[in-house]
Amino acid sequence: MIDQERLVRDFCDLVRIDSPSGQEEAVAQHLTRRLEALGLRVQRDAHGNVIASEEGANPLLLSAHMDTVEPGRGVKPQIKGDRITSDGATILGGDCKAGVAAIMEGLESIAQEGLARRPAQVVFTRGEEIGLVGASNLDFSLLRGKEAVVFDGNGPVNTITGASPTYVRFDVNVKGRAAHAGVEPEKGLSAIRIAAEIVTKLPQGRLDAESTFNVGAISGGSVRNAVPAQALIQGEFRSRNTETLDLLRMQVTQTLEEARRRYRDATIQEEFEVMFRMYTLDPKEPIVQAVTRSMRELRLNPNIQPSGGGTDGNVLRLHGIQSVVVGMSTNLMHTVDEYVVIPDLVNTARFCQQLLTGGK
Ligand SMILES: [Zn+2]
Repeated sequence: MIDQERLVRDFCDLVRIDSPSGQEEAVAQHLTRRLEALGLRVQRDAHGNVIASEEGANPLLLSAHMDTVEPGRGVKPQIKGDRITSDGATILGGDCKAGVAAIMEGLESIAQEGLARRPAQVVFTRGEEIGLVGASNLDFSLLRGKEAVVFDGNGPVNTITGASPTYVRFDVNVKGRAAHAGVEPEKGLSAIRIAAEIVTKLPQGRLDAESTFNVGAISGGSVRNAVPAQALIQGEFRSRNTETLDLLRMQVTQTLEEARRRYRDATIQEEFEVMFRMYTLDPKEPIVQAVTRSMRELRLNPNIQPSGGGTDGNVLRLHGIQSVVVGMSTNLMHTVDEYVVIPDLVNTARFCQQLLTGGK
């Protein structure tokens, strides 16, 4: 039986351990101890991801990430009715510790009852929030499973991520020429002005049902009274349509071409990087069927929704692991208003148990 009291206590203990991206060691050690107490063999790969394994063929990978966004230090969880919140000064860290807690409770409950179950491999990654860095550096030679359930979606567990976009980041570096702004401005070439012109010609916001574009940061110049010699534009675009992705990339390069023609003395350099690739869930995939069957057995209605974000599931799929991303019972994530609904958290743990024991 899922023990609600233990689950809530363990979740609150987890969020009290600071683990902003890059500083996951304390929570990694806490989880290592708990996984070892459950009889799993824990390995840390070279990047510091936690991989817990056991004997048995065809293990199911259960995955969540250990890091949280800022402000995420000194989290003080509060229980109000059937919700868990922070004290308002920080995020709660339900993303992704609600997922972590649900996986641990599922395993603990099964062990306590002595139920037969499918072998599992538990993968807790680092640095998900800063661009799926942990998963991208994961030592896949340690993973034996070919199917994964990633607990990192918004809302109740039965919210399944049905499609996820490709995400492309781009940097544009503009170099002009510095000059004294009051004495001889005509000798300068303002990199900020060129960058600003470029930004106004780029798309912005939601472009269609499956595509978005954003310039998220600009920086440049050094002092008020000098014509700025340098500026940097940092942007990203996402789409679930390959043609749109090509078009958007072309739109950026054409805009830069125009700027180069207009400002022949300037140097404009761009860099694109695909951070993760799109997928659309195939309802016929055995792992998708196992997930939806387990939900129905618990009278939860699978609710398959496209997402504009990426998760470790995108990276696992890139490595040939069939992955399904399910809700982890947190809401308003990445804000100080984030909250976990306790009955949803219990359902997430019940789902984890059902997934491993169903059909046994
Ligand atoms: Zn997350």
